[in-house]
Amino acid sequence: MSEYRVRFNRPTLVGNELNYVTDAIQRGRLAGDNLYTQRCHRFLEQLLGVPKALLTTSCTDALEMAALLLDVQPGDEVIVPAFTFVSTVNAFVLRGAHPVFIDIRPDTLNLDETQLERLITPRTRAIVPVHYAGVGCEMDAISAIAAGHGIAVVEDNAHGLFGKYRGRYLGTFGDLATLSFHETKNLTCGEGGALLINNERYVERAEIVREKGTDRSRFFRGQVDKYSWVDLGSSYLLADILAAFLWAQMEAYEEIQSKRRRIWQYYDEQLHPLTLEHGIQLPTVPPDCEQPYHMYYLVLRSLQERQALIEYLKSQGILSVFHYLPLHLSVMGRRFGGKAGDCPVTEQVSDTLVRLPFYTDLTQEEQDLVVAAVRRFYEPT
Ligand SMILES: *Cc1c(COP(=O)(O)O)cnc(C)c1O
Repeated sequence: MSEYRVRFNRPTLVGNELNYVTDAIQRGRLAGDNLYTQRCHRFLEQLLGVPKALLTTSCTDALEMAALLLDVQPGDEVIVPAFTFVSTVNAFVLRGAHPVFIDIRPDTLNLDETQLERLITPRTRAIVPVHYAGVGCEMDAISAIAAGHGIAVVEDNAHGLFGKYRGRYLGTFGDLATLSFHETKNLTCGEGGALLINNERYVERAEIVREKGTDRSRFFRGQVDKYSWVDLGSSYLLADILAAFLWAQMEAYEEIQSKRRRIWQYYDEQLHPLTLEHGIQLPTVPPDCEQPYHMYYLVLRSLQERQALIEYLKSQGILSVFHYLPLHLSVMGRRFGGKAGDCPVTEQVSDTLVRLPFYTDLTQEEQDLVVAAVRRFYEPT
């Protein structure tokens, strides 16, 4: 059991997960691409309007598939934000790519599109925007720059399922996009993900790469009479047992999203009074963006203040966390030439950002404990 009165995360559970898992087991088809996987594929394709969605074992694996599909070669460059999870970059480095770290904007904490042109070289193969907290990157500018140079765009949309930019769903802008169903994300099956394919030239190879480099998907559709090894690939299919779990959540996504919206808005209302007097920055959601209420964070004035707040909340039985350590300053990032000062906004935000407890079934009472504790930290009476 957790020692905390308010935990940082609890996985979303809607109630029907076990019924569908039991059904998948009774059907006797546990491996990937069976009934529940097909339901999840159709849900994503219809809701988002993407030509093809493929469930994968994780978002990390969907990113690895993207690197394979783009034929990333040793020495190719890939532009990634310095402020993101390691998988965004590692998937490309596994193919031999050289990561080029781009700094973030101080408002949305998304990659700073005004710095793209300066970082593009003849070796640039892809730009990988991450929609931080599910708030859309400036996709019009990013897409135009990428198209102008013939560079692919892969959206890491791990945070942003259901988010929109200028009325259009995130995950529908890049040639490819990825989703995560890890237990910390809005919808979950423990570990899981999806690859969204917007550029249809990648559809056929994506099925092959996902099926160990074989044309097994075509075989199952009766398009070839045997399947064999035809390309690079690996085993990226999600088990149908997990797709069944995920399907229960997809069916209930409106309820999940409306609970999360309420929680997000309550934090925002309650904490707003602290912003002016204490210099706290709350999340910025530009009018062009509809966000999916993935997380709630504060950006404070200093590392000392951030650590003191985390410690104080801990003393009150509340777990808050920070992320991400700047990728260009990590052991791996330095190996690729990263050094302090390369991405100043990332370095500053990494020291000063704190994430508050946020999950679908966070209760009003729990949230009030968090809000009261943050207020007491700033305004002790
Ligand atoms: C969670 C996350 C991932 C990795 O997702 P997995 O499904 O755990 O592989 C990748 N990128 C970002 C931005 C994430 O938040």
